[in-house]
Amino acid sequence: MLTVKLSPYLEKLAKICPAVRRQFVPSRLEESDEELTVEDPLMEEEHTVVRGLVYKYGNRALVLLTMNCAAYCRFCTRRRKVSDIEKGVISNADLRQIIFYLKKHPQIKELILSGGDPLTVPDILKTALRQFSRLAQIKVLRIGTRLPVSNPALVNAKVLAALAEVKKQPLYLMLHFEHPAELTRATLCAVKKLQTVATAMFSQSVFLKGVNDNAKILYELFSRLLETGIKPYYIYRCDYVAGAEHFIVPVDKEIKIMTELRSKLSGLAYPTYVIDACGGAGKIPVPLNFWQFDRSMYKDFKSKKIKVLASA
Ligand code: SF4
Repeated sequence: MLTVKLSPYLEKLAKICPAVRRQFVPSRLEESDEELTVEDPLMEEEHTVVRGLVYKYGNRALVLLTMNCAAYCRFCTRRRKVSDIEKGVISNADLRQIIFYLKKHPQIKELILSGGDPLTVPDILKTALRQFSRLAQIKVLRIGTRLPVSNPALVNAKVLAALAEVKKQPLYLMLHFEHPAELTRATLCAVKKLQTVATAMFSQSVFLKGVNDNAKILYELFSRLLETGIKPYYIYRCDYVAGAEHFIVPVDKEIKIMTELRSKLSGLAYPTYVIDACGGAGKIPVPLNFWQFDRSMYKDFKSKKIKVLASA
């Protein structure tokens, strides 16, 4: 059960911005018992090889460092466990197990730290990054965070010192933005601080009904992100996660928006629009309206055919 949590900063922003309120303030619609949704759409539990380490794809693995965030998004893919801090925190013993597993699997060259929000636990982050960055096999480190949006004041010297532990590898920060109203002065200031330690910054977004299912809004969001030095990387179709059904946008609408944006935005400002295949079998790019063919099915990375659920 996802706890309700907003930072004082977000509480203020939510009062003046309905798009922010909808993302963070719970709604009775979360209680719907839609049969098509599941708790763990990406099957991360099944791919958890040791506590905190999810390994699905060849050369990269996901480390879930904590289940804590500065605020909880109501559409979170991991809402089955995010906010369950007791269960979610990685201990030193867990870290030792993770390192042991990585050494036994030298084909893993890239680590993606996520959670929860790794930047909300700078002490754990520092210890983890120190150990991961010392492994010769690890060539790339990525960290996913929403802290500049959910509580920009927490992007402080301690967080920057933790990130500065990465010296040998490129450090890519994957920030999460949904709406241009999130790009406040405080958030931009936090982003600037992170730019002093990151090799490059990317953004990830999710199509959300009533928040950003609109070409004008996304045009502004992606343009402003690029102007801030953040490359829009992915926009995902919202996962069919239990409790977040009311955020799902009809797929035809998403395709129409992304087709329009493709003709208006520069290639740099335009993110890849994907469906995170159910079962955790890959991020599948969605074809736009420039081509004509049957879009009711797609194949995942394992060539399994999956039917597209057309609307919420
Ligand atoms: S910040 Fe990320 S992990 Fe935390 S609730 Fe939002 S989407 Fe989930």
